[in-house]
Amino acid sequence: MNTGPRRSPRRSVRRLAVVATVLASVVPLTCTAATAATAAPERAAACTGYVGLTFDDGPSGSTSALLNALRQNGLRATMFNQGQYAAANPALVRAQVAAGMWVANHSYTHPHLTQLSQAQIDSEISRTQQAVAGAGGGTPKLFRPPYGETNATVRSVAARYGLTEILWNVDSQDWNGASTDAIVQAAARLTNGQVILMHDWSANARAALPRIAQQLSGRGLCAGMISPQTGRAVAPG
Ligand SMILES: [Zn+2]
Repeated sequence: MNTGPRRSPRRSVRRLAVVATVLASVVPLTCTAATAATAAPERAAACTGYVGLTFDDGPSGSTSALLNALRQNGLRATMFNQGQYAAANPALVRAQVAAGMWVANHSYTHPHLTQLSQAQIDSEISRTQQAVAGAGGGTPKLFRPPYGETNATVRSVAARYGLTEILWNVDSQDWNGASTDAIVQAAARLTNGQVILMHDWSANARAALPRIAQQLSGRGLCAGMISPQTGRAVAPG
């Protein structure tokens, strides 16, 4: 079972977990229920909600270390890339995808978009769509404006490219010098469906990942994808 393709074992595990739950609720403790429960690995069985981990401003010289840390801790995240860096480091965009991450649009040069003309906003967004797609990251469906600064014009240009604007529910403050402890504590505030802001370049955010993984799993939460339909974290598609 562990040697199969990445997705199918998880699905079957989830089904097993559901079966185990249903059996446990309708059947008094029998051998059948106990066997099914034992067969389902704890991590998959404990997945009762999803949160969106996000890392902005890559890809960069930190990206490989970040991807390693995410993989080692069984986490998947959404990477809001700057177009200029995607264009300069296409292999890192492909590495993000290969590591199971979702690649999204964070503008081309990280300007204050609300201070730009509509044509300039359009250029920031469209060039990033091209850079990410050209690198092999697929065409992004999610967009995060730099600094979280947005308005109706920014949103309408994003919508023209089929992008859903995603801000965040929890700010890890990694950009503001937050310690690893503080970042772990911020992640502990996440509830089902919520999104946390972190950065590709933050060594403290990277160092927080093992404890974030542990703490999420202890609360029955798993790292999910962000739905372009709802903007909320959901089970990976
Ligand atoms: Zn940023």
